Amino acid sequence: MWDDASIDGGGPHAELTESASISCPYCGESIEMLLDPAGGARQEYVEDCEVCCRPWSVRVIVDGHGQATVSVSALDDA
Ligand SMILES: [Zn+2]
Repeated sequence: MWDDASIDGGGPHAELTESASISCPYCGESIEMLLDPAGGARQEYVEDCEVCCRPWSVRVIVDGHGQATVSVSALDDA
């Protein structure tokens, strides 16, 4: 029998972080990027390539199962 009313169990481990492997549209390097499915069903942001430092336009779509789909394209500044 456990009487652990005084122990606050710290809550569930909600690790929703996922990673995706993408290729840089500029240098072609494949890079593992971390996603945050909890950040919303549709996310759009700019991130710089770790290798060539050029800006990507990143789109993340999270479906009803928490499955994230990522697309990365070149952010063209015309
Ligand atoms: Zn690159």
